[in-house]
Amino acid sequence: MDEKLYQEKLKKQQERHESLCRRCGACCGVLDGDPCVNLQKNADNTYFCRIYETRLGKQKTVSGKEFTCVLIRENCNNFGAVYPGCPYSS
Ligand code: SF4
Repeated sequence: MDEKLYQEKLKKQQERHESLCRRCGACCGVLDGDPCVNLQKNADNTYFCRIYETRLGKQKTVSGKEFTCVLIRENCNNFGAVYPGCPYSS
């Protein structure tokens, strides 16, 4: 497979993977009452990260607590996180 086709395939796989997210905000602290300061709410009550492309690494919650943002797959597989209804943690 040539490089261009390979990159297109990877991009489609990534888009399919990300489309599974329900935008519930649970992995960003909505259920804990002290979510990430970068989490924003849509009019339809779903959530999005306002710095999604650069989110990984040190971040802070609304109350100022520091935490490290990691990929959802890493959060679930390596740290055992479970979020109700989340397709990545079920
Ligand atoms: S807990 Fe799962 S479904 Fe909910 S926002 Fe996070 S990744 Fe998406």
